Amino acid sequence: MKNILFKNGTVVNHNNITKSDVLISNKKIIQIDENIKVEGQFEVIDCNGMLVFPGMIDAHTHMGIPIKDGWSADDFESGSKSALNGGVTAIVDFTVLEKDQSLVESINERNKLAEKSVIDVALHCNITRFDKNILAEIPEIIKMGYNSFKVFTTYEEANMMLTYNQIEEVSKIIYDNGGLLMVHSEDNNVIKKASEPLIAKKLIHPKYHAIARPPEAEVVAIEKMAEISERTGCKTYIVHLNTAKGLNIAKDCANMYVETCPQYLLLDDSVYEREDGAMFVASPPLRKQEDCAALWQGIENGWVDVLATDHCPFMLADKQKGIPFQNIPNGIGGVETLFPVMLNQFIERGISLSRLVQLICANPARIFDLNDNYGELTIGKKANLVIVDPNKIESDWTGKLRSKTDWNAFSEFPAIFPEKVIISGEVIN
Ligand SMILES: [Zn+2]
Repeated sequence: MKNILFKNGTVVNHNNITKSDVLISNKKIIQIDENIKVEGQFEVIDCNGMLVFPGMIDAHTHMGIPIKDGWSADDFESGSKSALNGGVTAIVDFTVLEKDQSLVESINERNKLAEKSVIDVALHCNITRFDKNILAEIPEIIKMGYNSFKVFTTYEEANMMLTYNQIEEVSKIIYDNGGLLMVHSEDNNVIKKASEPLIAKKLIHPKYHAIARPPEAEVVAIEKMAEISERTGCKTYIVHLNTAKGLNIAKDCANMYVETCPQYLLLDDSVYEREDGAMFVASPPLRKQEDCAALWQGIENGWVDVLATDHCPFMLADKQKGIPFQNIPNGIGGVETLFPVMLNQFIERGISLSRLVQLICANPARIFDLNDNYGELTIGKKANLVIVDPNKIESDWTGKLRSKTDWNAFSEFPAIFPEKVIISGEVIN
């Protein structure tokens, strides 16, 4: 294993930005200092003018998801290669709990698929069924080292929903065992009510996806979750929060973490009118400009804890044959563009790059127990580094992508792709 000195770069951590050299050896960071001198078996990489970031974490991905007649575009292999291309050296994916499967079986099955990944993979455990066996398994799963569990307040038709009472039961057990509850927060009744008139009128265009799943669905579900988390004390992480009103409730709730995604910050529901509108169908749907603005405010104020992608891309043809809108496979890709697009946005908007590192690195590392190797560039952590030239802003970058999908939601936004990504001491690119 090579020893490498990264010289003259600007190290960007969650709490400071310093001009420092970084020395790595045997897959680990062994020194960070001004003017490190080395002799002998060291390669030197000049990072003058470069920003040196820790390896990024995408805490919300879905690799290789089955749909009616096929699969999502990225499996763990192509998805992880594309992640690495964009500076993400670890993902946290979700288990898929099949009918009659135990939680342990669902974890084992997902870990097997993840063996093809070229980056680190951790897992959140989906709880999409409520029975006494599942409840009994939760403490064991936490002992096995899986501390985050996701539930859904919707998708009744797909047999994935838990009622609020069931979620409260689950919360209590998770709290007692020191775990974390993650919630897909869209109220099923609000969605039902909004969908009925659309179905009655046979309205099928992709734009009705946003009308069928209105902002109130999120607001009602987050209100309920705030009450539950206050009663149980359970730390509750709202995945892909996307409305101004939802954020307003979550920010005042002591036990709540907030995740949002680039699509909810950068895109609004007007895209559903586009010819490729079906491609933007994801649940929850895209919202209004006011919501995007509120989320950016939340990023600046510290109300948003994590930026992740909900990565689940499909091929153009697979999405477009899905009309009526209820049949469009749900999901947008993003793991590869998370860091390059957001880095440019933070620079353009004058937001501190330390804040970016908090959102895509330090906070997810802390919340999901990945601190041993992730979260910051510091002595003893795994040698995962992302080296970036902040002046290399590109507007035509889709040709660089390694994801298998033939479409990207963020192609209109400039991006800064890494010059080099280092994973476990291995230099990629
Ligand atoms: Zn998701």
